[in-house]
Amino acid sequence: MTTADEPNPLRAARFWRAATALDHLPPDDGAEVAFAGRSNAGKSSAINTLTGQAALARVSKTPGRTQELLFFCLDERRRLVDLPGYGYAATSAARRRDWGETIPAYFAARQCLRGLLLFMDVRHPLQVGDRQLLAIAGELALPVQPVLTKADKLGRGALNSALRSVERALAEYPAVLPALPLSSLNGAGAQALRRQVLAWLAEDAAAG
Ligand code: GDP
Repeated sequence: MTTADEPNPLRAARFWRAATALDHLPPDDGAEVAFAGRSNAGKSSAINTLTGQAALARVSKTPGRTQELLFFCLDERRRLVDLPGYGYAATSAARRRDWGETIPAYFAARQCLRGLLLFMDVRHPLQVGDRQLLAIAGELALPVQPVLTKADKLGRGALNSALRSVERALAEYPAVLPALPLSSLNGAGAQALRRQVLAWLAEDAAAG
């Protein structure tokens, strides 16, 4: 079943700017939700699916942009932030260090950051970089929504068992929501994720 007829406010997302370093970040106001994951986890496809825009994540795939933080605006106060992918074997040691410092510093610096979507391939969840990110988010009490991508690669039984085993492993981390499956191939799971992103972004108004 699809919910394609439900309105999608994330469709308003537009690429705004890239930040190469923390002193290039936009003003720390309004509300932000960040997207993280290992390279190839399906993060770009998920951004396209969630925003309903095939062209949007092309920005993320532009060579040379892969280590930047990419800001997408919904409006003047609500942003999505695409964080550098990590864990790819071909990534140089220097670049690994880059994300190792940039992402935690970004988390710590942003008062406006409401939550983190952590994208993991359903067949290879909770790799080293994912666990490091969960630990960092836990220290900062940053809410995390784990997303198991490429859910269409598994049958229903295998998918449920993957969800349960991730659930058990995540029990040790605080502030982590139940994992949600996503298929960017057929859109399954997208609406539940959109609702979470929008709920976080709405916390701007609640915070005054
Ligand atoms: P990123 O590096 O995390 O941004 O990953 P991409 O979005 O570029 O996806 C990596 C590969 O996985 C690409 O070949 C995608 O077509 C594929 N992929 C991503 N999401 C899905 C999905 O939901 N289902 C399937 N079957 N393949 C996917």
